[in-house]
Amino acid sequence: EDLKSEDVENIQKLGEGAAGTVWKVKHKPTGRIMAKKTITVDPDPQLQRQILRELSFLRTCGSPHIVAFYGAFLDDGDTTIAICMEYCEGGSLEDIYKRAKSMEAVIGETILAKLAEAVCMGLIHLHSHNVIHRDIKPSNILMTRQGEFKLCDLGVSGELINSMAQTFTGTQYYMAPERIKGGTYSVRSDIWSLGLSIIEVAQNQPALPPPDNPNLSIFELLDFIVHQPMPNLGADRSPECRDFIAKCLIKEPSERPGPEIMLQHPFIKNWAHLTDDITPWLKQVWGWS
Ligand code: ADP
Ligand code: MG
Repeated sequence: EDLKSEDVENIQKLGEGAAGTVWKVKHKPTGRIMAKKTITVDPDPQLQRQILRELSFLRTCGSPHIVAFYGAFLDDGDTTIAICMEYCEGGSLEDIYKRAKSMEAVIGETILAKLAEAVCMGLIHLHSHNVIHRDIKPSNILMTRQGEFKLCDLGVSGELINSMAQTFTGTQYYMAPERIKGGTYSVRSDIWSLGLSIIEVAQNQPALPPPDNPNLSIFELLDFIVHQPMPNLGADRSPECRDFIAKCLIKEPSERPGPEIMLQHPFIKNWAHLTDDITPWLKQVWGWS
């Protein structure tokens, strides 16, 4: 059964990004709570049909490490595409690290290692469907109330990426050097972005621009990514964690490990399962009773 615009009722705005707005919604016929992302696109009906066709591929992409896709449709008028997906009550890692800072809840090694593990498993799953994520960053890694990490906003629709490129103004802090240089893009480019995301979550602030050089222009920043040594966490973090990040941030993509090899890294092997239930930590972050 396909989702229809009139069956979906807005409950609350969850957030806003460069490309669209995300709402918590209710699917009235089933009572199911979902997240609905609306994206403004070109009013060309043929292009919109193409985007919806490409998005429907997400149905076949089910995995515990990927946010479930419920359906997509044209919404309000002729320039908006709505994507309905699993609602993740824990919010994004960006929401979480900002909140954790104000709650003085430490994001420890086990949380970071579980995050790394889930992202690698999600990337392996996508890779088996020949999909590269293309936009790994803390705001695209969500958490459920049960403490699971899930990837969202996968780059499955080339037409959607094209039509968003025209409205996109954000800076690509998470872009791997080979992408900046126009080289071949692979799953290893997503591993680069994972490295920057782990630093950001661990220190409750973005890894780039570098703290000692915060006013780089976009050109200087891209040049920095290609040519300068990348940041890492300080000595207060485990050597395993810092080595994992250093491997993610190897500039030469052919030397950077893919997600299968990263899953075998001591950071994940030694730290990810010290604590199995992280829901008490998530409760502390959000003040849930
Ligand atoms: P960005 O990823 O750049 O922040 P988005 O428009 O993709 O922009 O998302 C905006 C915000 O909406 C996210 O940061 C997150 O807080 C929230 N969000 C997105 N998808 C979901 C979801 N499935 N469940 C809960 N919150 C979500
Ligand atoms: Mg997003």
